[in-house]
Amino acid sequence: MVTGNKGKFVGEQTSFFTQESSEGNRVAVLLPVPFAGPLDYAVPEGWRIPRAGQIVKVPLSGREVCGVVWPVKPEGRLDFKKLKPLTENIDMPPLTASIMKFIDWVAAYTLSPQGMVMKMVLSTPNAFESPPMKSHVVLAGAPPERITAPRKAVLDYMQDKAPQTVKMVAEESGVSDAVVRSLVKAGTLTTIEIASDQSFDAPDHTIKGPKLTDEQQVAVTAICDKVWEGAYQTFLLDGVTGSGKTEVYFEAIAEALKDKKAQVLVMVPEIALTSQWLGRFKERFGVDPIVWHSEIGQAERRRTWRAIIKGEARVAVGARSSLFLPFQKLGLIVVDEEHDASFKQEEGVMYHARDMAVVRARFEGCPIVLASATPSIETLVNAQAGRFEHLKLRERHGGAVMPTIHTIDMRRDGTANAQEWLSPVLITQIKKTIALGEQAILFLNRRGYAPLTLCRTCGHRFECPNCSAWLVEHRHKNQLQCHHCGYMAGMPDNCPECDQSDSLAACGPGVERLAEEAARLFPDARLAVMTSDTMTSPSKTAEMVGRITSGAVDLIIGTQIVTKGYHFPKLTLVGVVDADLGLRGSDMRAAERTWQQLQQVAGRAGREERPGSVFLQTYEPEHPVTASLVSGDGEAFMQAEIEQRERYNMPPFGRLVALILTGENIKEVIAVGRDLSRTAPNRDGMSVFGPAPAPMERIRGKYRYRMLLHAPKDINVQKVVQAWLSANKPPKSVRIKVDVDPQSFM
Ligand code: ADP
Ligand code: ZN
Ligand code: ZN
Repeated sequence: MVTGNKGKFVGEQTSFFTQESSEGNRVAVLLPVPFAGPLDYAVPEGWRIPRAGQIVKVPLSGREVCGVVWPVKPEGRLDFKKLKPLTENIDMPPLTASIMKFIDWVAAYTLSPQGMVMKMVLSTPNAFESPPMKSHVVLAGAPPERITAPRKAVLDYMQDKAPQTVKMVAEESGVSDAVVRSLVKAGTLTTIEIASDQSFDAPDHTIKGPKLTDEQQVAVTAICDKVWEGAYQTFLLDGVTGSGKTEVYFEAIAEALKDKKAQVLVMVPEIALTSQWLGRFKERFGVDPIVWHSEIGQAERRRTWRAIIKGEARVAVGARSSLFLPFQKLGLIVVDEEHDASFKQEEGVMYHARDMAVVRARFEGCPIVLASATPSIETLVNAQAGRFEHLKLRERHGGAVMPTIHTIDMRRDGTANAQEWLSPVLITQIKKTIALGEQAILFLNRRGYAPLTLCRTCGHRFECPNCSAWLVEHRHKNQLQCHHCGYMAGMPDNCPECDQSDSLAACGPGVERLAEEAARLFPDARLAVMTSDTMTSPSKTAEMVGRITSGAVDLIIGTQIVTKGYHFPKLTLVGVVDADLGLRGSDMRAAERTWQQLQQVAGRAGREERPGSVFLQTYEPEHPVTASLVSGDGEAFMQAEIEQRERYNMPPFGRLVALILTGENIKEVIAVGRDLSRTAPNRDGMSVFGPAPAPMERIRGKYRYRMLLHAPKDINVQKVVQAWLSANKPPKSVRIKVDVDPQSFM
């Protein structure tokens, strides 16, 4: 499974990478399948030798697939006569040298087969088929003999019009489809077939943005200089929530668009959650940006991919997978909310989209902006070392002040009743806020009604049959759900263990349960629950966000979804129901993550003229995370975290690589772990931990064990791990996943 590149990248010149012989020419083609490297194919006689980057169709074990002519020397192992010939040159611009280098780099860095990375680039197989045709009509002949009012409406409408679909003509002229078709029959209109791919409207970079403040202008100038030069540079745009980071990078996008060929990529954590951002983009650039994520439909996906490789799509916004889009010429990359954990892909090729975006910018020779109010430690360290240029925005725009943050010590001022979660202080604050016509958020990062259900009679706990996890009650759906594998079961009346009725008890709160309590406490308040269970589509999300923005909601109850950059003008109060929740567990990033999350949710409060306040319910107000939020000295907190990482040589001061061993048979998994442990690298300051059962020991019926390599920073861990794994031959029934720079230790 671990692979390297076959052959070195040798540039674009044809003569380097084709092999000409008296028998014929061969080329290396990288296919989007989990192979280590490219395969050799024969160039059919009479064909021009395709250039590197050319997309070609080739036979592969009985089917046809599209791949890319790779700029390496063909392997030359197979006899020419045994080679399969290329079947088709796809009529499409070739992949650029920089994206090909990028594919090689990502494969080598993440220890993934090159073909798997290629698969992320050639993500839209139907993009290579010619576009589906659609019938259009246009004025062609003389007017019909019989003119009726509807017919006249169509004729008037169609004067000087470009070809349009029957449906569109009928709609626009207010008649039925039949009227339009009758005019085709009469010969007045004629039908022509047109490719259904419409081009995208170009954004207008001449629309003026707002007048910038001095500190915003300093940041804009620094970024625009590099955009103009067309030179690589990473910027950390570090500004408190509401300081105008978006306005700053909009300005940089406008600068990039002045170059008629340049394209811009904006990466955001979760595209479904960006309805407000899309609206702002449209206001600023006059058109919708081009959106890329896993849920756009096939037709749109195809149209988008093609427009990007042809250089016609100018600005694309997307989740992490957009990093692998085949841009012709990137002029700027923006990674918004760069600290967000969702930039790390945990399946397939395990890569961190923020880190890889920096690499891509380097290959493309363009600047990249990492924006955040709560930058990650990795990024801060890079900025401190001078590798990234640190741009700071210290003030909220328009005199809005940062919210004041208070703690509520639940040991002293908690709830009287164990089945309630809101303290008297917080209840009073919410009532006051709503009475003033302002809005409040209650933040609890737990979906569903209750995280655990148990039987009061026999102590039975509902556990997922496939995972080491409790089942979460979702009361609206009357269901128990596993949040790890998707297992669902109806909520039984009796205990499945002892058959006792009325004995099942919900333990702890989820947002649904909190909403129940809020409805009881604030009967007149209009509630909205924001979770991935209620915001299931972009349109539902937009609808809910619209209601909140317009003031039709008083109290929002939400999970981490509410931390994602929303701007609700009337929102002045944030209540964090369990500020200690993220701090339990032993993850090295627990403190950093919790701090970022609480800082982000706090940042929703008081974004306009009315000041905001934040209340953190906690059993541990003296914890450094909570204490620094209250004192407002986030820099000192992050500095302390950085020093701690440095002391223990943890990333980014040292390197980590995790191996995750999975299999259905636990004995086999452990045996593979033992073998790996026996052959583990142990020189040059490296150490290997494990095998140990993963915190989530079973997911989807598979056992999971983890090993962790810890190495000094200057060690080439890829080489070490590759050598280590190639010395072991695990049985097929045990999989080894390699996670370079792991973020999750589940
Ligand atoms: P951030 O991205 O840092 O959270 P935004 O760019 O969303 O901040 O800015 C917060 C609010 O302030 C937005 O409504 C934005 O339009 C407004 N804003 C920021 N800078 C300016 C400016 N120079 N002039 C006018 N409005 C601004
Ligand atoms: Zn029971
Ligand atoms: Zn499960």
